[in-house]
Amino acid sequence: MNIHEHQAKELLKGFGAPVAQGVAITSAGEAEAAAKSLPGPLYVVKSQIHAGGRGKGKFKELGPDAKGGVRLAKTIDEVVANAKEMLGNTLVTKQTGPAGKQVNRLYIEDGADISRELYLSLLVDRTVGEVAFVASTEGGMDIEAVAEETPEKIITVPIDPTAGVTDADAAKLVAALGLEEPAAGEMPTLARQLYQAFTEKDMSLLEVNPLIVMENGHLRVLDAKVSFDGNALFRHPDVMELRDLTEEDSKEIEASKYDLAYVALDGNIGCMVNGAGLAMATMDIIKLYGAEPANFLDVGGGASKEKVTAAFKIITADPNVKGILVNIFGGIMRCDVIAEGVVAAVKEVGLQVPLVVRLEGTNVEQGKAILDQSGLDITSADDLDDAAQKIVAAVKG
Ligand code: GDP
Ligand code: MG
Repeated sequence: MNIHEHQAKELLKGFGAPVAQGVAITSAGEAEAAAKSLPGPLYVVKSQIHAGGRGKGKFKELGPDAKGGVRLAKTIDEVVANAKEMLGNTLVTKQTGPAGKQVNRLYIEDGADISRELYLSLLVDRTVGEVAFVASTEGGMDIEAVAEETPEKIITVPIDPTAGVTDADAAKLVAALGLEEPAAGEMPTLARQLYQAFTEKDMSLLEVNPLIVMENGHLRVLDAKVSFDGNALFRHPDVMELRDLTEEDSKEIEASKYDLAYVALDGNIGCMVNGAGLAMATMDIIKLYGAEPANFLDVGGGASKEKVTAAFKIITADPNVKGILVNIFGGIMRCDVIAEGVVAAVKEVGLQVPLVVRLEGTNVEQGKAILDQSGLDITSADDLDDAAQKIVAAVKG
């Protein structure tokens, strides 16, 4: 789960990290009061969307010469004018895809005088099995491009979970970022605050890009991007409250209500599968036969009829879906339950596209009988290969 920059900063502030003063607003009418509550003389008006690259982004409605999604303002009037121009419009950045994201929220922040822009993040480094800092002097820009063109400018500092951030770890970060006093002296504390926030809140990513050295020599977290481990969210009701559903795919929200692992994709064959491994194999074989999956959907090991019905509805609600492949291996889950779910769903939502079902495992004969006796136009398949060929042919024909 992702949160907005202003929420991430509020959270980090709670751990003592240095962030600027700011106010989040959702209407232009609030801009003046927000700016007046800040010290000035420099203000920043920042689009709050769940995507990076906002500064270099472009508003769809405003034409190529308009300013981006992060704007500096020198007066309160300028803050207000920018807020009016930005709110409600669609920001397209490198990370939003061509459709862009509507800006429904702005963060009005106290502006900083910047001396250097650095990169600092925390992530789970699976190669060493530890949480690690990633640091670079090349902050404020696209870190993927830095990694590709000048990988030597990125250093990784894994943190031993039993020791936490040691003085030696902090010294590595100070050296890697080329920090001088007073920033150098502040780094160990900041590193510990970030590490504590990351581990206590079960984050999967905490990216500060840029971390800045201000003209006065002090450090400040200028941008913050935080993702949380979805499997640990039940431990953090405070974090759950930060969820902004308007930023998420409506089909994925619906799926999460039923505990379905669903990811929307660009193809036209909707897939309903149990088990992540089988779901991936199903997607692979669809591609092998020349088509593209419309989604990844794992209904899980012990899905109920209700869950199957919900999954079916989510798939059929996608206008890109031109055919559906149900591929279930009945282990814990029984094939007759799946078949009943499919029949119930088809009766409820109707079937506008070809449907191929491949069942295997526990109660497979009962399952097939339920499908056959339903009177619905369902194509049965014997194995994965047969199923994939049938659905691809149906979609292409
Ligand atoms: P992003 O483009 O989505 O990553 O948004 P950032 O929050 O990283 O802002 C983009 C850029 O705007 C930064 O790299 C800075 O160069 C600039 N910027 C943001 N806040 C300030 C500020 O307080 N003062 C100054 N001078 N520039 C800022
Ligand atoms: Mg940034």
